[in-house]
Parts: sequence; structure tokens; C-alpha cells
Amino acid sequence: MERVQQAIERTKQQNNYLFAVLFLDLDRFKVVNDSLGHLLGNQLLIAISHRLKSVLRTGDIVARFGGDEFTILIEDIEDIDIAIQVAERIKKVLALPFELNEHLVFTNASIGIALSKPDYEQSAHILRDADVAMYRAKSLGKARYEVFDQKMYEGASLLLELETALRNALLKQKEFRLNYQPIISLITGKIIGFEALIRWYHPKRGLISPQDFIPLAEETGMIVSIGQWVLFEACQQMHRWHQKFPSSLPLTISVNFSGKQITQPDVFKQVKHILQETGLKPCSLKLEITETLLMDNFELATTVLSQLTELNVEMHIDDFGTGYSSLSYLHRLPIKTLKIDRSFVTNIGSRGENLEIVRAIVTLAHNLNMSVTAEGIETVEQLAQLKALQCDYGQGYFFLRPMESAEVEMLLAANLCSKNFLKR
Ligand code: C2E
Ligand code: MG
Ligand code: MG
Repeated sequence: MERVQQAIERTKQQNNYLFAVLFLDLDRFKVVNDSLGHLLGNQLLIAISHRLKSVLRTGDIVARFGGDEFTILIEDIEDIDIAIQVAERIKKVLALPFELNEHLVFTNASIGIALSKPDYEQSAHILRDADVAMYRAKSLGKARYEVFDQKMYEGASLLLELETALRNALLKQKEFRLNYQPIISLITGKIIGFEALIRWYHPKRGLISPQDFIPLAEETGMIVSIGQWVLFEACQQMHRWHQKFPSSLPLTISVNFSGKQITQPDVFKQVKHILQETGLKPCSLKLEITETLLMDNFELATTVLSQLTELNVEMHIDDFGTGYSSLSYLHRLPIKTLKIDRSFVTNIGSRGENLEIVRAIVTLAHNLNMSVTAEGIETVEQLAQLKALQCDYGQGYFFLRPMESAEVEMLLAANLCSKNFLKR
């Protein structure tokens, strides 16, 4: 920090004096540390520092900033290209494997570069900018570098603003609402249940789509509290509808479950507790999880899914076909239904490929004793194809859009659940 401060002072005295700061974060250090242990983790850090030094000039400074972060100060350069060349060289030397106690370890780094400018006053400021650029490099796919520009900062502060707003919303718990989208049996045409979908009504910005805040909520861990609220609200709502509109085949409620929720140590107890408190029968609850989530924590997911299934809660795989998982997990987990991702359904009619993919998924699911729900049915042609392929359930704008609870209530009061939605 002192040397960066000195360099800043120098830019003020010497007109065309330029320097650059590189902020480097290792991409998979935690995996190495967790799997090979801290001793090897430390050895890796030392080996990396040697490689970093090997690509720098003698006057340049490399420092360990903390954890798996390094910073580099390159003084007295003609232009940004010099810093970019250094980043290129770092990428190259870090791409070679490290040999640690007979283990071959691969790692790489995301690098942010900030070039000096006259208005930097403190070392912390240029480091912060290099950090913002590093963050951008990471989100653009890691093992790369990005040069800071002011627009990144605007992006980052927007994100921070959203994060603060989300924390507030979570505290007040008045800005979140659930919408409910009907799920239709493609055999009887009747509504069998609803999927609960969260909506965030921001007092100034209006409606914010879950696609825009769920990823942020997952990254910051807020999804755990949000998810608990969603589960409670959805179970309570469905229990009330059961009481108000009794029927021989009670409607079910599908709730999206995030990766962070499944890995909570007491997730099973929490679900059980919410079911008890709301009075909803476990067999009316379906939890939707994505496949990538399962693959990330296979052991843990297996345990939790089995516990929940024993309780009589159904487990569904959401957005099936979009993850990069191996299919072998399917018969090892107690999964009841595969939800075919909307992207396959959208093009089912126009080209043969997606039709064959959907056919394969349906066959696979049925052979494994699972059922299939198609997401995002929008046209009568898509519906006809899916029915011909013997897809079991469907959901989409063709039938009904996600609705407010009051609208659902009107639908139930008019006994529209026994209507045949396959006919128009
Ligand atoms: P998802 O679970 O796959 O939900 C289906 C999404 O497709 C919903 O978007 C729904 O409104 C939309 N959709 C349904 N039918 C059609 C259709 O015919 N055409 C088109 N174009 N879209 C259709 P939504 O509500 O914006 O939710 C997006 C995603 O956000 C969800 O995808 C889910 O992954 C996530 N999400 C929503 N609510 C929650 C929640 O409470 N918790 C968690 N963890 N994630 C949630
Ligand atoms: Mg879903
Ligand atoms: Mg989905």
C-alpha cells in the first residue's frame, strides 16, 4: 500500500508518469485447499508467488493481499499495453500444472488491471478499481484479465444498491409476493396443482423479475431466508385453499428450492417444521431443484432428498436438460418428476432435433418410473406434440400465466379446476 501511495504521489509531480496495479484472484484455490489440505494449499501459494516473480521486472512489486489474492505494482510504464503483456504472461505461467507432493494441481487466476490516472488520491482507490475489474474477469468466465473502466464501477454500485434493497425487502417482508402458475394434466386436462413463483415489488423500481435477483440472493446467501419465507407462504396458502375448496384429489404446490437451501445442515427439520406449522400434508408439497445443484453436492443431496422423500414430499428436477450432469445420478436419487426446460419445448415443432430430445427425455423418465412436466407451453401445436409424446403434465401461457393468489381464488371458487384446459 505504501509503494502504491508513493507511485500516486509521483503521478502528481511527473506529468506523464504512469503505473498499473494488477489484482489477481486464484480461480479454484478453495477446491485445492479443501481437497488436498492447508499444507499443500500453502505450498501452492508459495509456488505461485515464485512464478509471478519470474514474469516481472526486478523493480516491480508482488504482494499477497490475503487468502488467494495477489496484487502487483508495475511502475513507470509507457502505456496500458505493458500491463496487459504482464497479465498475458501470468496467465501462461499459471496455466502450467503445479507438482505438489506428487499431486498435479491445476489452477489459474482472474486478473483485474487498473491504470493510474491523475485523480487517484489514495492507494485503496486504485486497488478497489483493480478489484472491480478482477470481479468482472471472474464473472466473464475466469482465467482471464479485464482492464478497469468507469462503467464497471457503475455496474458494481448498481449491484450493491440492489443488494441493499434486497436486504431491506427481506427485513420488511412486505415487498415479496408469490404468484401461482397452474400445472395441467395432459391426460385429463385438469389443474393438478400450482407452482409458486416469487415476485419482488420494489417501491421505486417496480416489479423485479426473479431472474434478476435470485442469482444475487444465492451469491450473498440471502436465498436461505427468502426460500424459507417462500416455502412457508406457499404451504400456508395451499393449506388454506384445501380447507376452503375441499376436493377428492387435493391440489399440490410446487416450490423452487435453491442449492444453498439444500446444503443447510437443518434443511430437513426446517421443511418438516414448516409443514407442521402450516398444516399442509407432506404429499401435497413438491420441491423443484436443478440438476447442477445436485451434482455440486451429490453426497449431501442424496441424504437430504431421501429424508424428504421418506416424509412423503416429492422431489422434482427443474429445467431438466440444461445442466451438464451425467445421467447416472437419475436412478440413484429418489426423483419423482423431470421438468423439461422451456427451451426444448419452444422449438419442438419447428425442427426435428428438439422433438427427438423431448421424446428421449419422456422415454427415459418413464423407464425410470418418473413422470414428465413440460414447461413453457405456448401454442396448440406444442401441446399436440407433447401429448403425442405422452408427456404427463404441462405448464405454460397456453393454459394460464402465473397469477396472484386472489385470481387463483376466483378460479377455485368458479370450480374451474375441473375444467378441461386441453379444449379451447
Ligand atoms: P422456473 O422454476 O423454471 O419457473 C418457470 C418460469 O417460466 C417462470 O418464470 C414462469 O413465469 C415462466 N413461464 C411459465 N410459462 C411460460 C410460458 O409459456 N412462456 C414463457 N416465456 N415463460 C413461461 P419466473 O416466474 O420469471 O421465474 C424464473 C425463475 O426464477 C424460475 O424458473 C426459478 O428458477 C426462479 N424462481 C422463481 N421463484 C423462485 C423462488 O421462490 N425460489 C427460487 N429459489 N427460485 C425461484
Ligand atoms: Mg420451477
Ligand atoms: Mg424451470
